[in-house]
Amino acid sequence: MSILVMKFGGTSVATLDRIRRAAKRVGREVANGHDVIVIVSAMAGETNKLVGFVEETSPLYDAREYDAVVSSGENVTAGLMALTLQEMDVPARSWQGWQVPLITSSAHAAARIEEIPTENILKKFGEGMKVAVIAGFQGISREGRITTLGRGGSDTSAVAFAAAFDAVRCDIYTDVDGVYTTDPRITSKARKLDRIAFEEMLELASLGAKVLQTRSVELAMRYNVKLRVLSSFEEMSDDAGTLVCAEEDIVESNVVAGVAYSRDEAKMTLQGVADRPGIAAAIFGPLAEAGVNVDMIVQNISDGGTTDMTFSCPVNEVKRAEKAMADAKAAGAIDFAGLVADTDVCKVSIVGIGMRSHAGVAAKMFQTLRDEGINIKVITTSEIKVSVLIDRKYLELAVQALHDAFGLHRAA
Ligand code: ADP
Ligand code: ASP
Ligand code: MG
Repeated sequence: MSILVMKFGGTSVATLDRIRRAAKRVGREVANGHDVIVIVSAMAGETNKLVGFVEETSPLYDAREYDAVVSSGENVTAGLMALTLQEMDVPARSWQGWQVPLITSSAHAAARIEEIPTENILKKFGEGMKVAVIAGFQGISREGRITTLGRGGSDTSAVAFAAAFDAVRCDIYTDVDGVYTTDPRITSKARKLDRIAFEEMLELASLGAKVLQTRSVELAMRYNVKLRVLSSFEEMSDDAGTLVCAEEDIVESNVVAGVAYSRDEAKMTLQGVADRPGIAAAIFGPLAEAGVNVDMIVQNISDGGTTDMTFSCPVNEVKRAEKAMADAKAAGAIDFAGLVADTDVCKVSIVGIGMRSHAGVAAKMFQTLRDEGINIKVITTSEIKVSVLIDRKYLELAVQALHDAFGLHRAA
């Protein structure tokens, strides 16, 4: 018996008709002799709608109730997918996360998968069930509360199931036919990659390329899951899509593999903080406790005992960050003259394992942005990426210019 994992994202299950099309694909894999674990997302737009309800009801919401609400979109599609398969005479049933049970940490809205027991589902396969439909994105904590895995988390559910069941492959069906050199919505010159290395995909995902959730790539890398991204809209051959694989399995690649962006960033500056040992801990400790995901950090040169500390975070965490800093100030843990939030910035990054062995890549990025008249507000680099924070109005221009400058429309 070979188990195949097939994951269908929001647009692939957006209507009953699309669910039927997805179910037909599943039926074909059953006919090919696989037992199939199907992971489904909520219908397109549903999770955003639910998040909106929560934010409107309670701006600084209790994350446990957020999870109770936003996880519900997947319950609907899991049941509908099982019903559709049954209508096609394919033996199928649905599982919500807690029924598996997919056990996670209790970090609500960003929970980590800790355990996926397989006995129950394997027993059903043994009894003739052909498809286990699992509601993606959700699990249950050891405290018995419903959790979610962070936005885009159904990808991670899929890879985790593939690892737990030792699946032959994990196919991620989405609305593009693979991983591109950049988001094909930003430039028509974006080129589909036949293969991409785990490390590059990991960086692209964590820097905003939402085609795969970052943790799904981490898991695939750790458990050596054969991970493929492909379109649920087009008929595709068996070697279609993009294979995410080990670096050794890629013959040739460009120095820069791709350009990623994250649209909704904010830059926050704490003005006039005391420049003393422990100040960074006093600022970033409370931010972490408040659940603010701080990304880039810059500390200005000290000016007579005080300094400015700038950091970036997702724009929807600005309120939390402001409250955490105001609370820390009221408690006497830090002192600052002002807190300025710039909520009109975005982050653009270039990624490639080739950067390890090529000098001058960052310089070329900065020159390209200069030639377009784009001011860089913050820079961070690592071994295989360079990221800049710029005004959001320049996002498309920057991505297109960098894609051109590094010749990403051409194969290596
Ligand atoms: P799903 O609902 O199937 O999970 P997502 O919307 O989460 O789909 O991810 C697919 C989208 O990711 C694409 O429609 C595309 O706009 C975006 N995307 C961003 N960067 C890339 C990239 N480098 N390659 C392919 N798609 C990308
Ligand atoms: N429905 C969830 C989201 O929109 C999870 C997913 O689609 O992967 O984030
Ligand atoms: Mg997704």
